Amino acid sequence: MLIPFNKPYFVGTETRYIEEAVRSGKLSGDGAFTRRCEQWLQHHLGVPRVLLTTSGTDALELAALLLDLEPGDEVLLPSFTFSSTATAFALRGAKLIFVDSSSDSPAMDTTQLEALVTPRTRAIVPVHYAGVACDMEAVRAVAERHGLDVVEDAAQALDGNFRGQPLGTLGALGAFSFHETKNVTAGGEGGMLAITDLQLVARAEILREKGTNRAAFFRGEVAKYSWVDIGSSFLPAEINAAFLWAQLEDLEAIQQRRRAIWVRYFAELQPLAQLGVGLPFVPDYTAQNGHLFYLVCRNLTERTALIAELKQQDITAIFHYQPLHSSPYYASRHDGRPLPWAEHYADCLVRLPLYTELEESQQQRIIQAVLRFYQVL
Ligand SMILES: *Cc1c(COP(=O)(O)O)cnc(C)c1O
Repeated sequence: MLIPFNKPYFVGTETRYIEEAVRSGKLSGDGAFTRRCEQWLQHHLGVPRVLLTTSGTDALELAALLLDLEPGDEVLLPSFTFSSTATAFALRGAKLIFVDSSSDSPAMDTTQLEALVTPRTRAIVPVHYAGVACDMEAVRAVAERHGLDVVEDAAQALDGNFRGQPLGTLGALGAFSFHETKNVTAGGEGGMLAITDLQLVARAEILREKGTNRAAFFRGEVAKYSWVDIGSSFLPAEINAAFLWAQLEDLEAIQQRRRAIWVRYFAELQPLAQLGVGLPFVPDYTAQNGHLFYLVCRNLTERTALIAELKQQDITAIFHYQPLHSSPYYASRHDGRPLPWAEHYADCLVRLPLYTELEESQQQRIIQAVLRFYQVL
């Protein structure tokens, strides 16, 4: 039977909560389920404010709006990431300065940051690829030295940490995704923005609500609500929040299962390390969050053959990003620096199936197929 790459997990209580939301007569955003999710997440992450959004992309766009970037302002971000990390800032007219991945992991090589800072630099956007923390100490040191804002793309990083502190809470703003491919989902699409900088909270509520002070109005803080700023519609509907609530209630069990799958891959695929095939590098300042498991093949030909061989055995393994600095949209805008490690991961990285319901026997099949491919079984 085909083993998919990902399979959205259903806790079982989602439909009951959705029905509750429907019966409550309040379907638009910021109802009881949204409030419940936000309060729970604020407590879970230890941040003053969490705002649910319709996607991780929207959370990044809200973050970029909050920074008040001007055309020509520069933003430092990795090249090996999803387009959303970049479009959020490109939409504001920012110039994107892409940073290479590091030699030991797809994460941004933070030792390159200092040299890329110019008088126009405004922000650094680290991405916690695979839920494994980027070196936030290094990011924060550069940010503090030059007065830059830090927006974490924590889309894959729920329940990951840096020296014990939750990812997505180490900068001013942290963007998370609840897309169906992430560890928990809001019913397909969803996201949130975690705000650690108290000064940004009031304006974030306004920008998220079409530029109105509606949130303050519903709290009784203003007598009527009006149009006070720019903004957009970033609130998810209540049925999405209801779905998410069911998943958050089960987060610990989901995480336990996903982490166990990751740990088993890591242990049983160790023989590949001797051949020069890369296994995930998890620095001792962080822990993996069971988001995704990857291998780094020795070259593109080998990866193509591995994916084909697994497919032959009904196992879906897939590669990941094409580097953004050489993408059709940005290649002509990029400053021309070669980013060889980003290209390397684009060519050689392969992701193995990892989802909550992956059965032990299925994982066994995957591990054996990979070991057989490398003739170490
Ligand atoms: C998934 C993801 C996003 C976008 O999240 P959506 O909810 O799909 O909009 C952004 N950045 C990274 C690194 C992601 O993995």
